[in-house]
Amino acid sequence: MSNVVPFRKPRPSQRHRGNTLCRRGFHKWEVVDQPFDVKSGRLVTRYRCRRCGAEKNEARGPSD
Ligand SMILES: [Zn+2]
Repeated sequence: MSNVVPFRKPRPSQRHRGNTLCRRGFHKWEVVDQPFDVKSGRLVTRYRCRRCGAEKNEARGPSD
């Protein structure tokens, strides 16, 4: 019979799976806001990573 004791090895790689991806540049971006930048006359899309909370802005052309 199988008499396997559950081997609970802590796996930090699994705990920080998302952040590992983030560190490699694979963030899980979601759009937070789309304010209109009056100064440049462009629509700016604000993204936030769902995993690590990093933010980035992306300016879009008025016709985009
Ligand atoms: Zn991230």
